[in-house]
Amino acid sequence: MDIQQVDLYKEAERYIPKGYDPELYKVRHSAAHILAQAVRERFAPEGEVSIAIGPPIEDGFYYDFDLPRAANEADLAWVEERMREIIKGKFPFAVREVSVEEAREFFKEEPYKLELIEGLARGQVDEYGNAVPEGEAPKITIYQHDTFADLCRGPHVRHTGEIKGTALKLMSVAGAYWRGDEKNRQLTRIYGTAFRKQSELDEYLKQLEEAKLRDHRKLGKELGLYAIEPQIVGQGLILWMPKGAVIRDQLERFLKSEQLAAGYQPVYTPNIAKLDLFKISGHYPYYKESQFPPLEDDEGNSYLLKPMNCPFHIMIYKQEHHSYRDLPIRLAEFGTVYRWEKSGEVSGMTRVRGFTQDDAHLFVTPDQVEEEFANVVELTLKVLDTFGLSDYRVRVGVREPNSDKYVGDAAIWDQATQAILNAIQRFPELKYTVEEGEAAFYGPKLDFVVRDVIKRDWQLGTVQVDMNLPERFELEYVGEDNAPHRPVMIHRAPFGSLERFIGILIEHFGGAFPLWLAPQQAAIIPIADRHLEWAKEVRTRLLAEGLRAEVDARSDRMNAKIREAQMQKVPYMLVIGDREVEEQAVSVRLRSNETVGALSLEQFVALAKRLINEKSLALQ
Ligand SMILES: [Zn+2]
Ligand SMILES: [Zn+2]
Repeated sequence: MDIQQVDLYKEAERYIPKGYDPELYKVRHSAAHILAQAVRERFAPEGEVSIAIGPPIEDGFYYDFDLPRAANEADLAWVEERMREIIKGKFPFAVREVSVEEAREFFKEEPYKLELIEGLARGQVDEYGNAVPEGEAPKITIYQHDTFADLCRGPHVRHTGEIKGTALKLMSVAGAYWRGDEKNRQLTRIYGTAFRKQSELDEYLKQLEEAKLRDHRKLGKELGLYAIEPQIVGQGLILWMPKGAVIRDQLERFLKSEQLAAGYQPVYTPNIAKLDLFKISGHYPYYKESQFPPLEDDEGNSYLLKPMNCPFHIMIYKQEHHSYRDLPIRLAEFGTVYRWEKSGEVSGMTRVRGFTQDDAHLFVTPDQVEEEFANVVELTLKVLDTFGLSDYRVRVGVREPNSDKYVGDAAIWDQATQAILNAIQRFPELKYTVEEGEAAFYGPKLDFVVRDVIKRDWQLGTVQVDMNLPERFELEYVGEDNAPHRPVMIHRAPFGSLERFIGILIEHFGGAFPLWLAPQQAAIIPIADRHLEWAKEVRTRLLAEGLRAEVDARSDRMNAKIREAQMQKVPYMLVIGDREVEEQAVSVRLRSNETVGALSLEQFVALAKRLINEKSLALQ
């Protein structure tokens, strides 16, 4: 191998996304090429096969093809086997740089590659068709192993033998439009994954199985928590059913009381505002693609469905003159916002078009940033711990040094960044990483990465310093020196959005919510009709105590009723027979099938209320 090749190999490693294990990235990217070779061998005898793109993705890789017919199970099995053979061949991945003309000639039979080459030639896109920053025209390189060559920037493993055949699996087939555009031709996308060793693959498949059982879209339906009516109401717009509404209401109350205790002031703002507001804030037209189009009234005004709460809170701040003594001012609102997501990207509660942020904006002096950051971190940790989401770390996004893409005063940037780092130091247990270049253009930020019970990471609770909006809206406070100063703004939302957070909670708890959140806390199960009277009395007394309970008065057998309540993940089953009627008691069973035994009604109420007050994750 000549020097030129070695350099290209190394150089390509810069394309590995931050946080992606470099070795796995190369393995998966190489597996995608091998997949393409095997698919072509499988389908070429039946007609034209064109290859589109095949990048590594979060949990694996895919490749898009234009095939002469639909791919089926048998094809996948054949292709997977063939991939293992190619791996055994230990074919080296050879790379060479080519000119645009050479690339056109080389891929003259591949229409999709030719289109990508034209983009590459203009220096606008990379070979996946993604836009590249201006002035960063990538080199055009071709990687070849065995009989397969691809327009590709790498990086790859040295030879196919570096991939473990036993740690490789094809996962599924789906349709995908060329360049994600419905107007284009639909291609066949084959998904696969690859790991370093078989045990890692097995672990991943097990986790996937577990995740499927906990899928909030499945559980949301089974437990009657929420619904989506794409045809009549619209995609990505959530209808909260009574049971889901209980969970949301409990979360809102919890956070509201925590926020009041931390000195926040609740506010309410409208769902629409004149376009002018968002022109000042810069949300329009710069984020136009992610918003619903403006609404017009009969008097020539344009309005926007609110995509963000911040400009409204700023207008509230501006209603009064503020002195440094008034700060910090913390305005909080469960604000519903609307964003435009493409149909193909909308999913369950986690990718929606309308959602409610547990939003707040803090207006502070530069000196107060550290203290306020620490308070927000403390609040967020308390919230996460309450749900048993105690496996978390924090990422601090700071600016790239010597870059001019940021707004705001450099001294305030440094001060704010240092303040965030100081604030984190106050929590010695908190693991954190500092990521250069991950700040927004308007300020450094911090976000929480939370690991759920089945070891999936979720990004939650972003806290963001903003030096841009105070400038755009010319916010002021009068300082100790009697002169006007610009406040710093902090955006924060511990849950992010209630929809997404509850979606995550459904999966985290597998639908078995802790008592204080459970939509129905007790199922009262009379064994025979003669026990119904006491059962109803129990319900009345529980409701009066603020507990959520229902009587299952159906004529089904007791065991069937218990099973039904367990399926619905109701924490307690209160079984009532002759003895319970006589002793004014309830016989308590848990959804886990454990029996607690007979308790007087007063004892049960005391137990349940204590656990609810403590927001306990336990049931006894
Ligand atoms: Zn490639
Ligand atoms: Zn905001």
